[in-house]
Amino acid sequence: MSVPSAPFPTVFGRGLVPELVAIANRPTLVVTMADLWSRFERDLAGLEPIVHLVDTLERDELERQLADLPTVATVIGLGGGQALDVAKFVAWRRRLPLFQVPTAMTVNAAFGQRAGLRVDGVVRYQGWAVPEAVYVDYEVIRSAPAALNRAGVGDILCYHTAHRDWQLADELGRTEPRWPYDAELVAAARERLDAVLAALDEIHDVTDVGIRALMLAHRWGGAAFHDAGWNPRHIEGVEHFVFYNLEHRTGRHFIHGQPVGLGIVAGSMLQEHEPERMLGSLVRAGVDLRPEAMGVTWGDVAEALLSLPEFVASAGLWFTIADVRRPDTALVERLRDAIDEAYAGWPPPEGVR
Ligand SMILES: [Zn+2]
Repeated sequence: MSVPSAPFPTVFGRGLVPELVAIANRPTLVVTMADLWSRFERDLAGLEPIVHLVDTLERDELERQLADLPTVATVIGLGGGQALDVAKFVAWRRRLPLFQVPTAMTVNAAFGQRAGLRVDGVVRYQGWAVPEAVYVDYEVIRSAPAALNRAGVGDILCYHTAHRDWQLADELGRTEPRWPYDAELVAAARERLDAVLAALDEIHDVTDVGIRALMLAHRWGGAAFHDAGWNPRHIEGVEHFVFYNLEHRTGRHFIHGQPVGLGIVAGSMLQEHEPERMLGSLVRAGVDLRPEAMGVTWGDVAEALLSLPEFVASAGLWFTIADVRRPDTALVERLRDAIDEAYAGWPPPEGVR
């Protein structure tokens, strides 16, 4: 299967936000977050923009807000995942040119065609918006909390567990008819995974090199689901299922890469597939996998792991190691020991967000 190149033109540099004044047609809509706008207000003052501060991702509520929105000619998304997703939603519904400015490397929202909305509280990826350009400003990214930037590696390192799951399904004749094993897709994802593994120290320090490495991996990963014909097999596996169940059981809001990272370590332990290497890589990038750092307990993590097969079945998710080897208390103990040891030298978790 061929893999289309990502259509998201991505520009790296400095001082990129003020340049939008010379680009955007007016009236211009800026979609951003309340805590971010004060930082960029002066840069975009020349546009006299209409500003939408995101307060919901619910589709129905967004439709109501859209109906009240005046006519605009350009949409600028400025923020992390949520602002970029709502910017996509408006650009899609109003058929407008879109410019995206990610302010952190936490997730790949700038590079996905669909917007991660909520329908009755459940995540639904809807719509279609490919921006004119994604502007990755080194200084803007560096001004985000380091923990947010570093957690972005989770959505690339997860290819490690995803690939083993898909290989396992293939070996056991359990691949879904829609998604037969595809070595080309796996090799393409592996290339991005290796690039990020080679840049962990730079990503930890949020250097220009680290920002380029992780954001280019995100560019590929964000578009990969669509580009493979809505096939998630090469980019997502059991590690995300652990996160989904943890979210389902606790109702907490997470920094994506933390619970996914914990899922990578637990999943690769189940798979007996280099768990030490993956844990070492996540620690090296500076991702805190301790449950307390995510606002949950080891009890929550244990429950999410022990009930994983039932959750996967009820959610209709695809075949992974969890269908072959049931997570048990021995796995939870092994995970806890490994995490305790790996983070022994770290200060106590900064606590609950
Ligand atoms: Zn993810």
